[in-house]
Amino acid sequence: MTLPDAMHTRVDQQLEDALAAAHPDTLAIRAGIQRSQEGEHSEPIYATSSYVFASAAEAAARFSGDSPGNVYSRYTNPTVRSFEQRIAALEGGEQAVGTASGMAAILSTCMALLKAGDHVICSRDVFGTTSNLFGKYLARFGVEVTTVPLLAIDQWREALRPETAMLFLETPSNPLCEVADLAAFAQLARDSGALLVVDNCFCTPALQQPLSLGADIVVHSATKFLDGQGRCVGGAVVGREELISEVLGFLRTCGPTMSPFNAWVFVKGLETLSLRMAAHSQNALELARWLEQQDVVERVYYAGLESHPGHELAARQQSAFGGVLSFKIRGGQEEAWRCIDGTRILSLTANLGDTKSTIVHPASTTHSRLSAQQRSATGISDNLIRVAVGLEHVDDLKADLQRGFAALK
Ligand SMILES: *Cc1c(COP(=O)(O)O)cnc(C)c1O
Repeated sequence: MTLPDAMHTRVDQQLEDALAAAHPDTLAIRAGIQRSQEGEHSEPIYATSSYVFASAAEAAARFSGDSPGNVYSRYTNPTVRSFEQRIAALEGGEQAVGTASGMAAILSTCMALLKAGDHVICSRDVFGTTSNLFGKYLARFGVEVTTVPLLAIDQWREALRPETAMLFLETPSNPLCEVADLAAFAQLARDSGALLVVDNCFCTPALQQPLSLGADIVVHSATKFLDGQGRCVGGAVVGREELISEVLGFLRTCGPTMSPFNAWVFVKGLETLSLRMAAHSQNALELARWLEQQDVVERVYYAGLESHPGHELAARQQSAFGGVLSFKIRGGQEEAWRCIDGTRILSLTANLGDTKSTIVHPASTTHSRLSAQQRSATGISDNLIRVAVGLEHVDDLKADLQRGFAALK
């Protein structure tokens, strides 16, 4: 059978031209399609570790890099490439690489772009494992890290040194939803010659595009909202070609690459990302407003509320406020635990970015590695509860939290 290769190549080129002017919702569905000679409509999974060459000369050219094309799936894989092209298009980046996890994305970025003697300033208010990666592991290799509260940009400026190579932050922060001014951080990074790396896990490109505000690199835990249904672990690094090719070089050599199956799940997840993020945001805003009116609730943290100090900035910088909120219940750990244990529908798990809503007590789980003193400095008190709001009907989520509140009596 002769396969109409040329025809498909022509169609794909026309598609690429058409997509150059397309909206993000279209890119989420159409970007990065590598249709094979079979003409399949849905993206296939290329479950292959290696690739064959037409001749010994071609093999040599592939290995030397003279000829583009696949060699081995630690380097490149068509399904992973679909995910990479799609997430790059959504973030507005020149290039992306998929990684085995969100932590692998952060590690690969650091290993590719830092060296012994470099200095990093990292937000105090990042994912706990990220703090550990910088403080415990990179420190061993001579990368020095200064940790600064997310909102204290003056302290970031004071912490700068000639050898500062990277500023690393997450916005909005977990679990208090503090919002950093990305354009101001990008200016700080430019003035100091450091790279600004933003973990865009909580907003995803559907709500916030850090590269368009001047960040150099976006990292993702695809495990969260990009998958959106809690199935696979993965990550991504997005940015300028010159930076991402360094990260790809690290991945090729050191191996924390994304699996084709996981890439396929993420490709499918991205197709519904903007719809899901809008729905997560709508549910979370309604739940936050309701929580604010409950007598047993001392305070609610959600940037969509006018009462939140980051509200105006978030309204400018994000297109919606995302799916994660937290609140302080009147009392201490005992009341928080009783409330959590009293719920039935919410899943008691630390994961987020799922259609299923989750509830967690940060002080004794996600932030338990911090000392009591560090927790009080960061506002993670014993009566704080975080809810990652899913896509169930919001009235059922209210009723479930009401069950938790009833358990306090
Ligand atoms: C979960 C998470 C990570 C780590 O991602 P994994 O896929 O679990 O390795 C990094 N940053 C943030 C903000 C996260 O929520």
